[in-house]
Amino acid sequence: MQKIILTKVQKQILSNHANKEKPNESCAILLGTEKGDKSKVEKVFLTKNTDQSPVNFTISAEQRLEADKMEKELKLKIIGIFHSHPDSKAYPSSTDKKFMDLNPVVWVIFSGISKDFKAYVLESEISEIPIESE
Ligand SMILES: [Zn+2]
Repeated sequence: MQKIILTKVQKQILSNHANKEKPNESCAILLGTEKGDKSKVEKVFLTKNTDQSPVNFTISAEQRLEADKMEKELKLKIIGIFHSHPDSKAYPSSTDKKFMDLNPVVWVIFSGISKDFKAYVLESEISEIPIESE
């Protein structure tokens, strides 16, 4: 089964980002390596939510381009997309599901309510995958 490795420090960076952006959703691009079914985050790229919305997020074309550049420079792959749900649980919304289809990487969601992280992939259905710290 697929899983994602996210260190405690990386989680701290992401939850701080989520708290700072409240009441709006926050987002980030996760770069790392893939070995078999293990995706390991090596670099967290905090991005702006250009929607400035509590229920949606969009990463600008400029920042997506910047992430493409980081892939080459750091020899990493974009393995995940992070965003927060300030006022709901860490489960993909119907909009998220649409974008998961377009961006088939691991989707990590942080809930501002439960303060925890969940990770999902979209195959034919949404399936939750484990987050490990090492
Ligand atoms: Zn969402």
